[in-house]
Amino acid sequence: MMPIPPPGAPPKRGWVILDRDGVINRDRADYVKTPAELDFLPGSLEAIAALTQAGYGVVVATNQSGVGRGLLSEQDLDAIHAKLETAVQAAGGQLLGVFACPHAPDAGCACRKPRAGLLQQIATWAGIDLVGVPVVGDAVRDLEAARSVGALPILVRTGHGEKTLREWPDVAGLSVFADLTAFARHWITRSTAAAWRQDGA
Ligand SMILES: [Mg+2]
Ligand SMILES: [Zn+2]
Repeated sequence: MMPIPPPGAPPKRGWVILDRDGVINRDRADYVKTPAELDFLPGSLEAIAALTQAGYGVVVATNQSGVGRGLLSEQDLDAIHAKLETAVQAAGGQLLGVFACPHAPDAGCACRKPRAGLLQQIATWAGIDLVGVPVVGDAVRDLEAARSVGALPILVRTGHGEKTLREWPDVAGLSVFADLTAFARHWITRSTAAAWRQDGA
């Protein structure tokens, strides 16, 4: 896969980590194998743009076992992510990094969510710890990975979100949003209010 250039200056408002399938684009039971199969969920690109413009560094952390299963090549995955980054830019946003686990489930890698490796790669790359950083996902394994590194698990109801909501044991302690747009709106408003309090105190 293409190397991810190091981040420049740290983002003003901190980091937001997003799962890909079921959060940004439609999940497919047969995997997203080509750029043409990357079909964006309504409002997701604009939500990333809003986060970017509000001062967040947005990063993607995604399991892509289709590569390990031989359904697509690493070059195909790079092409899919080039389309994703271009579409985000066209909407006025930016992805600072797209981190993918290409391994099959039986490969025993450290990076496939729910394991923590992918999020730890991001932490090392960004030079941060992940405590309190929102990790937005639609699957149980996204929430588990987030929780294992002290990040803030955020569930969206898109993708597998409704099913996850039924399966997650601690729904009372979970932040749930209709979709990425609803999360972005909440997160930006919340942190803007906090910044006002800080600046105006
Ligand atoms: Mg997903
Ligand atoms: Zn992996």
